[in-house]
Amino acid sequence: MPYRSPVSEYKFVLEHVVGFSDVSSTDTYAEATPDTVDAILTEVAKLADEVMAPLNRNGDLDPARLENGVVRTSKGFADGYKAMTEGGWLGLAATPEYGGMGLPQTLSCAVNDFFAASCMSLGLNPLLTQGHIEALEHHAPDWMKDLYLPKLISGEWSGTMNLTEPQAGSDVGALTSKAEPQGDGTYAISGQKIYISWGDHDFGGNICHLVLARLPDAAPGTKGISLFMVPKYIPNEDGSLGEANSLRVVSLEHKLGIHGSPTCVMEYDRATGWLVGEENKGMAAMFTMMNNARLGVGIQGIGIAEGAMQHAIAYAMDRKQGRTPLDGTPEGTGTILDHADVRRMVATMKADTFAARAIALACGVGIDMTAATGDKAWTARAAFLTPIAKAFGTEVGIRVSELGVQIHGGMGFIEETGAAQYSRDVRVTAIYEGTNGIQAMDMVARKMMDGGETANAIIDEIEATAEEARAKLPDLGEAVWQSAETLREATEWMTAQGELNERFAGAVPYLMGFARVLGAHYHLKAALAEGDNGPRTRLARFYITRLLPEHIGHLAHATCGAEDLYALTTDELTA
Ligand SMILES: Cc1cc2nc3c(=O)[nH]c(=O)nc-3n(C[C@H](O)[C@H](O)[C@H](O)COP(=O)(O)OP(=O)(O)OC[C@H]3O[C@@H](n4cnc5c(N)ncnc54)[C@H](O)[C@@H]3O)c2cc1C
Repeated sequence: MPYRSPVSEYKFVLEHVVGFSDVSSTDTYAEATPDTVDAILTEVAKLADEVMAPLNRNGDLDPARLENGVVRTSKGFADGYKAMTEGGWLGLAATPEYGGMGLPQTLSCAVNDFFAASCMSLGLNPLLTQGHIEALEHHAPDWMKDLYLPKLISGEWSGTMNLTEPQAGSDVGALTSKAEPQGDGTYAISGQKIYISWGDHDFGGNICHLVLARLPDAAPGTKGISLFMVPKYIPNEDGSLGEANSLRVVSLEHKLGIHGSPTCVMEYDRATGWLVGEENKGMAAMFTMMNNARLGVGIQGIGIAEGAMQHAIAYAMDRKQGRTPLDGTPEGTGTILDHADVRRMVATMKADTFAARAIALACGVGIDMTAATGDKAWTARAAFLTPIAKAFGTEVGIRVSELGVQIHGGMGFIEETGAAQYSRDVRVTAIYEGTNGIQAMDMVARKMMDGGETANAIIDEIEATAEEARAKLPDLGEAVWQSAETLREATEWMTAQGELNERFAGAVPYLMGFARVLGAHYHLKAALAEGDNGPRTRLARFYITRLLPEHIGHLAHATCGAEDLYALTTDELTA
């Protein structure tokens, strides 16, 4: 069974679970009517299902390669890219002033979900360009916006982000690339960047690199970093391509997955660059791109979960092994899908994918409401949900694709079925765009500088839904209410820790526990919206009964503090 984008699922979640009507009720996003949303989802789904999904194996088997300093992409990728740009999907959330559609980010989530599920390695290219566009919209000088944005929004040019250097991964402040002012408004950029996704390709047009580098005498650490636009070809004033800039791809990485996405080692040798934002404020500008990309990477995890789940269900419904409890009944399929343990795995895939998607879309709604209203509470909510959407979305992608391999049995370990590709491709999502550990640390430190106010506001909301459910679904309402109370206690513990390492020691389990409870909240909302004991209510019951209890272990782990982590000496750990 080929991949089919989950259009009706999106419509339900937007309408009944994450409050998208708040967004479409604002003046800014008045055009995001249900008809427009329907038309967009349907069109993007067609592209993902019919054009991109057939390219997915090509990317895996015929990776991007470097030939004479130029990246040659996988067979069919250039046509797939062209189809994505022709639909205008890169500019869906971009400003209409420069040719974008000006629609909500939440709808970009759907685009990125369908693209990741159908062909993650190709879908990564427009994902980066979207973040690039947003960074320029907020921080670039007007002349740069005029010259670059129309081309990036149309997809004629693409955008990258260049942070990482061999000694500067999670510790971006350790980067040493240099930017020397040339006295004519330009800067000479020199240094090596590693792991640069889509650092080069053969789709035509320009490749615009946003590069972090240091000015002479800049302060050490993140305070001395500036952001520069460094294009592959220096554009003429009319937007035509001028001379080649002084940069090159040194090599491509050989990776566990996303083989179709060229991951480049880039060398800048006094390349011409232009400042984006203010000198030494590069991290603030890059954060616009990184926040966009963080939600986008969470969505990649969810897209892969969807693809892996559909793939596994199709296999399970075809594979026959042994007798099952449903044999001879009208319900029975006569396949492994009827075995209890396979049911457990499939239901887990479905319930977790729903939870992660609802969390990510709620984050999208927060971002859109921030843009539409400027309300500080929405800003804080979006900022708080971003690391959860990223880390939980990607953990779900990894867990669900793992289950996909398991459901295939031995065939899951055989590359031809494609189950393993989902598992290999999604693995990087927990690593790039800030590892999930770094996301969790951001959540318990920076995102809790308000003393837990935002976290508690979300917990209040969960409890309100649980209260509402008490009459109609008392067992589910009670379990969710109790879980919210446990989460509140863990949150109080976190905010009471003055020493940040105490929080960091439990950051990942805290994030996972929070996500588990939040996922239950959205399942409950879906069940309440459905109104009877339909499939959404039964899925909610599965999640709340079987998966929600994981929060107890996570939150107990979260509140242990750091001391015992250092109880074993380095010698003992390495013995
Ligand atoms: C396929 C791929 C594509 C990528 N694309 C891009 C790109 O387009 N642009 C770009 O700039 N970069 C890109 N990256 C780089 C990516 O963002 C980094 O790999 C990531 O930020 C982690 O850095 P690192 O690999 O140096 O790991 P390290 O920072 O060395 O981390 C190793 C481990 O230590 C942990 N750790 C590190 N610091 C801390 C800390 N302070 N506290 C607790 N734990 C810590 C990490 O969580 C991790 O588990 C890409 C990477 C890959 C693999």
